[in-house]
Amino acid sequence: MPDTLTVIEPATEAVLEEIPRAGADDVDAAVARAKAAFPAWRALAPSARAEVLHRLASRLEEAHEELSVLEARNAGKPIGDARGEMGMVIATFRYYAAAPERLLGDTIPVAGGQAFTVREPLGVVGLITPWNFPLTIAAWKLGPALAAGNTVVLKPAELTPLTALRFEQLALEAGLAEGVVNVVAGPGSTCGRRLVEHPDVAKIAFTGSTEVGRMIAAGAAQTIKRVTLELGGKSPNVIFADADLEAAAASAPAAVFGNAGQDCCARSRIFVQRPVVDEFMSLLDTAVRSIHVGDPLDEKTEMGPLISANQRETVGSFVNGEAPVAIRGQAPEGPGFWFAPTVLCPVDPGARAAREEIFGPVACVIPFEDEEDAVRLANDTIYGLSGSIWTRDGGRALRVARAIEAGVLSINSNTSVRVSTPFGGFKQSGYGRELGPHALDAYTEVKSIYYAV
Ligand code: NDP
Repeated sequence: MPDTLTVIEPATEAVLEEIPRAGADDVDAAVARAKAAFPAWRALAPSARAEVLHRLASRLEEAHEELSVLEARNAGKPIGDARGEMGMVIATFRYYAAAPERLLGDTIPVAGGQAFTVREPLGVVGLITPWNFPLTIAAWKLGPALAAGNTVVLKPAELTPLTALRFEQLALEAGLAEGVVNVVAGPGSTCGRRLVEHPDVAKIAFTGSTEVGRMIAAGAAQTIKRVTLELGGKSPNVIFADADLEAAAASAPAAVFGNAGQDCCARSRIFVQRPVVDEFMSLLDTAVRSIHVGDPLDEKTEMGPLISANQRETVGSFVNGEAPVAIRGQAPEGPGFWFAPTVLCPVDPGARAAREEIFGPVACVIPFEDEEDAVRLANDTIYGLSGSIWTRDGGRALRVARAIEAGVLSINSNTSVRVSTPFGGFKQSGYGRELGPHALDAYTEVKSIYYAV
């Protein structure tokens, strides 16, 4: 294997940077550094740990534009989106900076003494992250892990390591001690695997494909590691005939073509009640054709390229000769992994495009009859990450929200992710919750102490 990683810019296919490629030995060294740094980091007074995390958020604020441009170029995402994501990274550290002083326990009435619980950090935590939202997804793990007193080894995706490497420097500049945050940029098959097997790693927090998630859960079982998994999705966007169709059609494209569809929350199955399919499709047509696809650094751009040639090939396999292509947007010609936003309609719920996670700008429109049919179709998948319900009937909105088997739902909106609310999947979309107060549970152990009186 070469000893460098060639990082490509997806919009141009040109080399963005060559960086050293980490291997299993580098993971061992990083884990040893994290282990050595753990006692002092966990022993910091809660207010002192909070203070360091606030300093980190401030340092990230100073580097906001630099990180945004780096992420936009490396991941091929529109600069406006990248700025928004870096804003969320900063907000995540601010939110969890409040956590060290709020890691509360319980007092429990028992006979003969006093019982109470405390939350202990786990130790060294391994973070394995994907290429679609590189620093954002890392921050969802870094924030609560560090706030709870753990030290971390972060392995970013090989395709998008640059913001994670810059983050490691910024953390040192903000005053985090050497060894508290360690980044190893190398392949999943060597570095990721070693992190999963390493006896000194207490937990793995993973975001990526369901296939690799399965391997991680199996590998972690050998050392009874704690694992949280945020995996794939095939999320439903359910639009009833009584909905505000204009609003539903205006926001449906961003919900599936945002980040060029490379989003685990992508509402890629659009279920539309049969009487309004034609009206909805005509509104959607206008919205999809007006998506500006192009240079990620152009302020007007709403959708960039796919991450790689491989990804483009996979996505293309869903839009072959027999696919019912109803709407096709535009995309640039020439170098870059471009793919025009595409809507298939009507799609049979059993078709491959309706069942597999495409992870590209391809949406399936599937007609449905009534509420029961909508719920049945929405749940007919191995996944259960997010979803939306559009209707003016409040009772139905709540009934359907309770009936859909997914971790994050929105009503008359397509947004899923907020710093202060829990995020994660049902079924094969994974387990464990990120963000909000719930994420701290995944980075602490509950200890019960009894004091005899
Ligand atoms: P992967 O699941 O392969 O990659 C996610 C992370 O896991 C990367 O850091 C990767 O490292 C690492 N990894 C890969 N193999 C192992 C292993 N054996 N042990 C430990 N870590 C490992 O996703 P892909 O990048 O291959 O994308 C494939 C598909 O996964 C996409 O098309 C999409 O369907 C889905 N996906 C879902 C995401 C989500 O947010 N839920 C995010 C990304 C992908 P490296 O990349 O360096 O090899």
